[in-house]
Amino acid sequence: MDVGLASLVTLDDGTRFDHPRLLRRYAEKLARLQRELHKKVRGSRNRGKAKQKIARVHGLLADKRKDMLDKLTTRLVRENQVLVVEDLSVMTLLRAARGRGRRRKARLNQAIADASWGELLRQLRYKCGWYGRTLVIVDRFFPSTRRCSACHAMGPRMDVSVREWTCPACGALLDRDVNAAANLRDEGMRLYWLMAASLPPGRKAPAVIKASEFEECPPAA
Ligand SMILES: [Zn+2]
Repeated sequence: MDVGLASLVTLDDGTRFDHPRLLRRYAEKLARLQRELHKKVRGSRNRGKAKQKIARVHGLLADKRKDMLDKLTTRLVRENQVLVVEDLSVMTLLRAARGRGRRRKARLNQAIADASWGELLRQLRYKCGWYGRTLVIVDRFFPSTRRCSACHAMGPRMDVSVREWTCPACGALLDRDVNAAANLRDEGMRLYWLMAASLPPGRKAPAVIKASEFEECPPAA
């Protein structure tokens, strides 16, 4: 799966799950409350009240996000034996740095997306354990977006606004997110089979395989 801002999750078969609209509504409410807070006098009772209101909306937002992601991750884990994602912790850092200087609302949407990515990964990790599935976390240096999933040639560097591109090597028309998901699937399955081959016969693959820790995995028996 590819995880991003345009769609929360895109699968290699083209299925998309969008960021919940409800969360966007909360984001707008938060932006409004923040603006109101800035107008209140420092140390005043009204400022305290405004702060409480903001804390309450943040709490509600976190609960709703958890509920919505709960349904999505349960479905994903139930329907698949192996799930592949890229290293989201690093992705969050990269995007946050790039988002500097943008408007408050854009930053807020970004913060909400970041929180969703973190929660998504957290839930996938423990549910893969529960259901006996495997989550493969692909290294952040893997070029999931730029590589053509049809012929594996490298495409150009692309701005986030580019949603579709044509592979210069094989001419395939590629949807940015679906192509990334397909690349992650191929790389993740390669790692999965490498790991599976190194396990003693009859032993199940672990719940989480992290590409960056791959050298530390048990060697061939
Ligand atoms: Zn190609």
